[in-house]
Amino acid sequence: MLADIHNHTCHFSPDAQMTIDELISSSVSRGLDVVGITEHYEYDNPDPLDDITTFDIIKYCKAFEDWRIKCPDNLKLLMGIEFGYQTHTAGDIDRIASSAPFDVVILSNHLFRGRDVYYGGEECYGMDKRLRHKQYIGKMAEMCEKCNNYDVAAHFDYINRYNPDPEEYILYEDCPEEFDRFFEALISKEKCLEINTRSIYKAQAKGSSVIMPDPAVIKRYLAMGGKYISLGSDSHTPDTLGIMFSETIDYLKSLGVNEFCYYEKRKMVNW
Ligand SMILES: [Zn+2]
Ligand SMILES: [Zn+2]
Repeated sequence: MLADIHNHTCHFSPDAQMTIDELISSSVSRGLDVVGITEHYEYDNPDPLDDITTFDIIKYCKAFEDWRIKCPDNLKLLMGIEFGYQTHTAGDIDRIASSAPFDVVILSNHLFRGRDVYYGGEECYGMDKRLRHKQYIGKMAEMCEKCNNYDVAAHFDYINRYNPDPEEYILYEDCPEEFDRFFEALISKEKCLEINTRSIYKAQAKGSSVIMPDPAVIKRYLAMGGKYISLGSDSHTPDTLGIMFSETIDYLKSLGVNEFCYYEKRKMVNW
């Protein structure tokens, strides 16, 4: 059983290059049993250069009716959404998450100092690593505290994804207080921590020798009582669906993770 619950299509996410047909055929050929589509919804995006904003949720629901018909019986298709968090949009996210029959609601923090980490640059990567990670995870903690109507907190290591230094991966010891606040919010609300396999894949492709995710992050999450972990490849193209799942599953099991989850009609399913 393999469930990859964080992915994008070109039909509703402007930064994705994958059609629904490609997503379905690649999911099947790459051995997935469950695939989640979680299109970007960046409510009130502050960045004028960023074309990722919002999409028409009614059209998305309609498209899904056709997509479910084309999906073969051996693949389960989940209708999800990925909200980009900002402090002032917490209430809107909670409200919009209830506006359609989503299977899964993912929250992300794509911004650092008001710009998508994607743009990187000196302002993000020129500063001290610990300070950067402290600010980023502090915002993840705030996101999970302020929002209530969600299932999964995505890619806590997104801040690393565009780092030109592949060795500078986020560690628990960089900001233990912020990680504890983040985990406390997730655990008390019975939400799920995503392990993003494309973050790992990208860092390794850049030649990183760091073991990812940091074992101390996972051990701390489990020690605090964290039980729920999902896997997402965050694919925007067909070639990365389920990427590095078997290695990541083996690695997480070696740290004491016994099961993973996905969501159907906002109910958790364990696998
Ligand atoms: Zn994206
Ligand atoms: Zn994301």
